[in-house]
Amino acid sequence: MDAPSTPPTGRTPDPEAGPDPDAELVCATCGATPAPEQRAAARLTWSRGSDGGRSRWTCDRCSREHLRSIEGKLDPAWW
Ligand SMILES: [Zn+2]
Repeated sequence: MDAPSTPPTGRTPDPEAGPDPDAELVCATCGATPAPEQRAAARLTWSRGSDGGRSRWTCDRCSREHLRSIEGKLDPAWW
């Protein structure tokens, strides 16, 4: 009885392992989710806001669009 056991090596300790709501990146605008290997980058490029205590992410694409709309959204009524 020699069960083939997988070597314990090769496992990197993940400090952010576990059900961390902050680790869930979902664009609140378009619902996009970054690939697991792009999460780290997404955390830097995505915009994070809080909505009622919940973190709200906006992907880089939508943030750009948003930024653009903000810049170009100078309502005539505002003047
Ligand atoms: Zn988006």
